[in-house]
Amino acid sequence: MYQNAVRFWQKRSLRFWLTSGLVMTISPFIAFSILTYLFVNERIVSPLLTLSSEQLGILSPVNALQKNAWDVSRAITNFAIDGDANYRAEYTAHAQQIDDAFSQLNQSPSLVYSRLNEDLSIAQQQWTKVASHSEVILAMPHNHDYSESGSRVIEFENEINKLGYELEQIYEDLQQHNKQLHHQVIETIEQAERMYVLVLFLALLLGLLGLVIINRSLLSSMDKLTEGASKFATGDTNHHIDIGIPVEMASVAHTFNSMKNKIIEQHKALKLVANMDGLTGLLNRRKFDEQIDQEIKLAQQGHYPISIIILDIDHFKQFNDTYGHLGGDEALKTVAQTLAKSLGSNDKACRYGGEEFVVILPHCASSTALRIAEKLRQCVASQVIIIEERKVTTLTASSGVATFPEHGQTTQMLIKRADQALYKAKASGRNRVMMATINC
Ligand code: GH3
Ligand code: MG
Ligand code: MG
Repeated sequence: MYQNAVRFWQKRSLRFWLTSGLVMTISPFIAFSILTYLFVNERIVSPLLTLSSEQLGILSPVNALQKNAWDVSRAITNFAIDGDANYRAEYTAHAQQIDDAFSQLNQSPSLVYSRLNEDLSIAQQQWTKVASHSEVILAMPHNHDYSESGSRVIEFENEINKLGYELEQIYEDLQQHNKQLHHQVIETIEQAERMYVLVLFLALLLGLLGLVIINRSLLSSMDKLTEGASKFATGDTNHHIDIGIPVEMASVAHTFNSMKNKIIEQHKALKLVANMDGLTGLLNRRKFDEQIDQEIKLAQQGHYPISIIILDIDHFKQFNDTYGHLGGDEALKTVAQTLAKSLGSNDKACRYGGEEFVVILPHCASSTALRIAEKLRQCVASQVIIIEERKVTTLTASSGVATFPEHGQTTQMLIKRADQALYKAKASGRNRVMMATINC
């Protein structure tokens, strides 16, 4: 289950990771903007607009109603007292304003709460009663019966008091409603503030996650690739680039690792060929020069002896003349194999050139070296050489042995002494081993 999930994510492409990272980074901000727009619009802007439209479209006409009702009351009472026609005109003007205020209220698009319509219609009916009482009082002659006008005025005052009460009620309800709206807006703004902090925190978190995804999928993989390439360029061939995601980078890393392994293999093969003698498979002269210098340096540091044996096939020119150059080559290969299999694992046999071989014997004093040279001589002499599946006679070789530091402190001196010993072996009749001496 877990491994399936890991495999699923490992198969996702770079495009997938980049898109996910970007979406992850950007989405909280888009969500934040949409949320802000919706929330602020619905919970803050809209109640605030209602509030202001109530103020303009309802509260002021209700206020006008209250004021004009009071003026109507005053005009009618004054008219009842002294019958001045000016009060009639005053009444008419205020009554008109009351009618206007009612019609404005009836046309108002947002009657904010359900009971307001009902309350307004009760108030309007009450105003009709007040108006009809007013008309009766205004129609009475000045020298009328005071007892009748007194009772009319009392009835009028009763009715207008009821109207005042109704309007007061509406005004208070409206104010109450305004307070509620105001309270709701304040509460919503506080909620919005908390929500902004939360959303901002989430946005930062998701943004960070997005950056982590981009970093992990692209940048860190790029870093690993660059690091791997520069390590390889500086010679660190053991470093393996390990990239899990994205698949593209993992595939580049895989290709790079296989390419690196191939180069290492080719390098090893080239090195082997460069150090090897093509005919015999032994180390070549170039490698011998390198190796002997190194061995002498180690021997100097470690204060131990090393010996060399220079071995030269006897009368090889004659052998070539008898069996041909290819026969001679076969003989060289056979001698090389004989040397290689007769030596210890730390000893190194090299082809020095032509039909000459040189053997390096680390940690080997002259007496042991002499014994080994003698053994090699016997092995070569007893080795049957087969040319074109025909048995042929054996070969012999002569050797000169020299030991560090006994016969020479440097490579050149050591080779020179071994060469001189070889010359002596040849001169003494061949197929023999001679130890170098210090004074020749
Ligand atoms: P000596 O006993 O004094 O060493 O006599 P020699 O004939 O062995 O020595 P000389 O130096 O006169 O001849 C060496 C011969 O080795 C001559 C050359 O043709 C032959 N030779 C050198 N390299 C090769 C090779 O790679 N293949 C073959 N077939 N012959 C080679
Ligand atoms: Mg020779
Ligand atoms: Mg020879």
